[in-house]
Order: sequence, then C-alpha cells, then structure tokens
Amino acid sequence: MIEADTQMPWQRALVYGLGLSGRAATRLLRARGVDVLAADRRSPADLDLDELIADPGVELALGAEPRELPPDVDLLVLSPGVPLDRPLVVAARRRLVPVMAEVELAFRCLDGPVLGITGSNGKSTTTALTGALLEACGYAVEVCGNIGRPLADCVAGKAGRLFVTELSSFQLETVSRFRPCAAALLNISADHLDRHSDVGLYAAAKRALFARQTGREVAILNADDPLVAGVALAARRRWFSRLGPVADGCYLDGDRVVEVEPGRPPAELFGRRDLPLAGEHNLENAMAAALLARAAGAPAERLRAGLASFRGLPHRLEKVATIDGVDWYNDSKATNLSSAARSLEGFADGSVHLILGGRHKGADPRQIGGPVRRKAARLYLIGEAAELFRDALGGATPHEMSGDLASAMAAAGAAARPGEAVVLSPACASFDQYDNFERRGDEFRRRALARRGGGDG
Ligand code: ADP
Repeated sequence: MIEADTQMPWQRALVYGLGLSGRAATRLLRARGVDVLAADRRSPADLDLDELIADPGVELALGAEPRELPPDVDLLVLSPGVPLDRPLVVAARRRLVPVMAEVELAFRCLDGPVLGITGSNGKSTTTALTGALLEACGYAVEVCGNIGRPLADCVAGKAGRLFVTELSSFQLETVSRFRPCAAALLNISADHLDRHSDVGLYAAAKRALFARQTGREVAILNADDPLVAGVALAARRRWFSRLGPVADGCYLDGDRVVEVEPGRPPAELFGRRDLPLAGEHNLENAMAAALLARAAGAPAERLRAGLASFRGLPHRLEKVATIDGVDWYNDSKATNLSSAARSLEGFADGSVHLILGGRHKGADPRQIGGPVRRKAARLYLIGEAAELFRDALGGATPHEMSGDLASAMAAAGAAARPGEAVVLSPACASFDQYDNFERRGDEFRRRALARRGGGDG
C-alpha cells in the first residue's frame, strides 16, 4: 500500500517554468495550501495563466529569468526544459532547498501505483497502449505524464487507479523518491543532442526510474538494444525481444509473441496480426506494453482483445488517407533520425515517397542512409535541413528540393503509383516552419484529405 503525502511540508514554492507541467504543479501546491511564486522568462502574452492570475496565493514573476531565490522559498519545482546549471537551481541547492520535477511532487501525493515509460522513441505509443490494455482488462487507469496530461493533474480522483506515466529524460533529472512498480526503458538512441546524449538518458533512467526499485518491482528492458541490455538493477528484470528467446519476459517466435517466466510453461500473449499498428517498432512497443500490463496484474489471455481495440495515436505513422491506391502516412512525430528509420522499416523496398526535413537536431543524416536507400523511391526535402539531407542522401536516391510541405505533397502525389506510399517522416524538429510537430502533422492530414476530396491539397 502506498502512503501518500496529504500534507506538504512547504510554505512557499517557486515553480519555474509555466508550461503544462508547471501550471499543474502550481495547482497541486495550491490545493494543498502552499503559496506559489510562479516564474517564467516568457512574457504573459506567451503564457496561458488565467486561473493563476485569479488566485491570491500565486505571485507571478514573468518576463525575465529569475536569478535570485527569495529567502522565504522552501521548494523549487523545475520544468523539464530548465537546465540544472541555472543560477536559481544552484542557489537552491546551496541553501538545501529541495529541487524537484513536477512528477516527483505529484508522485508523493499519489495513492496508487505508477507504471513508468521512458526511452528515446515510442514512449507515447507505449504509454497509450499500456493504458488501453489495462482498461480493456477492467482497471481504472490514468494515462498521463509527458503524453499531455501532467501527473500532478491526476492526483485528485477516485482511489484504486493505476497511473501509466510517460517520462522524458528531462523529467527524470530531478526526482528523488519516484519509484514505479514497473518501469520500461524502451530504447536509447542519439537524440536531444543539445542536452542529453545516449548516456544521459541511460543514466537518468537508471538513477531515476530504477534506482529505488527493489526485487518486488519490475524493470522492463529491450533485450535487442545494446545500450539497454546489460543494465544491472535490483528490480526483477523482464525483457522483450524481436530477435530471440529471453529468460524472463516476452519475445517474437515466428508470428507469435510468447511470454516466458521462470517456473512456468511459455504462453502466447498475442500474434503479430492482433496488432493494429504498422511498423516493427510498434511490435516492440506492444511487447513492452504487454509486460507493463502483466506487471500490474492483467491476465495474459485478455491482452489480445485490448491490443485489437487500440487505434494508435495521431502523428505516429498514422494512415490518413488512401487515394488512388496510394497510402498517405502522417509520421510528423518522427522528429529524429532513429524514429524515421524505424518507421521506414515497415514499408516495402522502393515504395516510399519520403518527405524529409525541418530543423535538424544535430546527428549525422548519413545514419539513415541505409533505410532511405532501400525504402525510398524519391525524397522531397523541406525546411532548414533540406540541403543537409540533399548532401548526405541525395546522391543515392532521386530527390527534389521542395522547400515546404505543400510543394512536397503536390510533387509526391504526382509521382506516387498505386501500391506506394507518401510518408511525412521528417527526422527533424518542426520549429523552423511550425509551432510544433502537431501543427505540421495537421497540415499534412488536411492536405491529404483535401486531395482525397478532389481539392488540390
Ligand atoms: P515518443 O513519445 O518517445 O516521442 P512516439 O510513440 O510518440 O514516441 O513515437 C514517435 C515516433 O517514433 C513514431 O512516429 C515512430 O516513427 C518512432 N517510434 C515509435 N516507437 C518506436 C520504437 N520502439 N523504436 C524506434 N522508433 C519508434
């Protein structure tokens, strides 16, 4: 039984960063009677502050980075985006003021178990899928965290809920008591190069997700990822693999996913065909989700139906239209090279009209040279990174410098033949041309649907 903190030991917290999670942390603190100094270096016009402005227990400090820690502040809640070397954080630590992420604050208030999911790619899909599996088995579930609903917003609610929580490596930097009953580390690839290396995620996960687990808790690990495998932990380790048998966990045996456990005969969990999502990577996500659900007590024989009912998430290899035999896929969430490469894997060789580009994140585009050469019929290069991709990949695959999504889609639509696919899997961030990847994906979907409707898209 988890004992939640109902009282908070703090009088006045500084919440730095007023995005979704900072605002949720502020609400939680206020609900427990803690005054809040809410700070953000953005100006009020760029923030969504209505409810905070109306609360006399919240003081706002906006428009500049707070550098001083007021003497009466006894807690610092830090947004995932804030680097730990900021003067404020240094000052707090020097004064022994606790510094924590919103997930840590929320965790201390929960009355039910947390299932945690992290990794470079596949977090949201696995989180949503785990939630769907557990719901199909009759559990009351909150699907939360980085996926869009902060954990702090889920604290209030009925007893007996499970908290299926997506965690980014940033959020894991400032946790101390956080202890999931089961936690999955899906994979580690070079992403977030500006602040985290592979080693950063690996270290954060080890330190934050698994560090306080004991033999009663479960760590779910990708046996096929050399950076994940080999990790030594106190928790029970359960593995998933597409490549071959594991000692404890599940693996792909032909077209069946089989669960193995010491002392029990192997049992089929589901078949490849039960999974309604395209792509080999989603098989991995499904195996991780199945093990998470099993760790929470879900019966093996119920997972198949749960999987079949899952519809996937928007912007993740989402088939938005089939027009004259050509499938149009919105994979706008593939914002790094490894996720775009994984998405390509599921397509027939030479069948993809691939829209690539945006704001480059730093890794060498030649990393996806192999899959692009094999799978792409033609490349349509957009955004800031167009030239970089042309120089790295254009020699081996026909390509066009399309510039923007509208031109890329028009050209791809004209070139694609029945049986082929037009795929926006840009391998880049969207910020050069859009507010976020959702906007980019929405435009793709809108234009594809307009083409289906006979418009010019
Ligand atoms: P995250 O939340 O970690 O960003 P998502 O579930 O939103 O991950 O998927 C983002 C993109 O990452 C997908 O569009 C797909 O291209 C790719 N992806 C998903 N799962 C995996 C995986 N297990 N391994 C590699 N790439 C993946």
